Amino acid sequence: MGRVEGKVAIVTGATSGIGRAIAKLLAREGAKVAVTGRNEECGRQVVGEIISEGGTAKFWKLDVSREEEVKRVFAEIVEEFGRVDILVNNAGVTGVDKPTHELTEEEWDQVMDVNVKGVFFCTKHAVPYMKRSGGGSIVNISSIYGIVGSPGIPPYHASKGAIRLMTKTDALIYAKDSIRVNSVHPGSIWTPMLMKACRKMGVSNEEECKKVFARMNPVGWVGEPIDVAYAVLYLASDESRFVTGTELVVDGGYTAM
Ligand code: NAP
Repeated sequence: MGRVEGKVAIVTGATSGIGRAIAKLLAREGAKVAVTGRNEECGRQVVGEIISEGGTAKFWKLDVSREEEVKRVFAEIVEEFGRVDILVNNAGVTGVDKPTHELTEEEWDQVMDVNVKGVFFCTKHAVPYMKRSGGGSIVNISSIYGIVGSPGIPPYHASKGAIRLMTKTDALIYAKDSIRVNSVHPGSIWTPMLMKACRKMGVSNEEECKKVFARMNPVGWVGEPIDVAYAVLYLASDESRFVTGTELVVDGGYTAM
């Protein structure tokens, strides 16, 4: 018996990195998984990996910043799998790295549209299905950068801070409906997003990049997507039935300093 046996999960941004690991782990633990994202080829590859391990999954092309698309895709997922028990709002972008006074409105909006409006749209359109089936679990992927500042990527910090508070508000609004809402705050996790951050810092060698981030973490190494996936699995499962509105930090001790 898996830890999320029989549940239906939607994972946004499941075509890469952390989202891919979450989708695969939830499927391994018995959930039927809607793998979503914009990159069709990568999405179908993730679905193929899940099916080859004996799991159940299907890909839907989805840009979370488009409300009509979210509404349509979630209806199709319910048509296919019958219900929604778990929503993992994982899709995210870092955006440009400029000081605040150099940012354009467009650059600001690009990050907010995906990271903040995306979480809003997906939550909005998942909640009615969760209410219908008597409850659910929403896990929002924020970041340690939604808790502490750094001298860069201002829209990313603002967006991840917003997700942290949206989580607590929604937890309170939907507690009576047995819908739990929690946030996960990863530190440096080895994914294409981290490598992109390294290239911006002028480090293009992968091993060198890992060393740069490892030095920042008290544990002395960089996390892997599976480290975040296990935190999500706990919050998605009934093991965390008394946990809502909380923030689970997965950062190798970074924010303990
Ligand atoms: P990644 O490998 O770049 O993956 C990002 C995912 O987001 C991709 O699957 C991408 O899929 C999806 N995405 C981007 N824009 C989208 C849109 N408009 N609609 C739907 N999906 C979209 O990055 P990652 O490191 O796994 O990041 C996953 C989450 O963890 C993000 O929210 C990120 O902020 C957070 N996080 C990461 C780290 C880290 O160190 N890696 C640390 C803290 C927090 P498509 O391109 O297919 O759309």
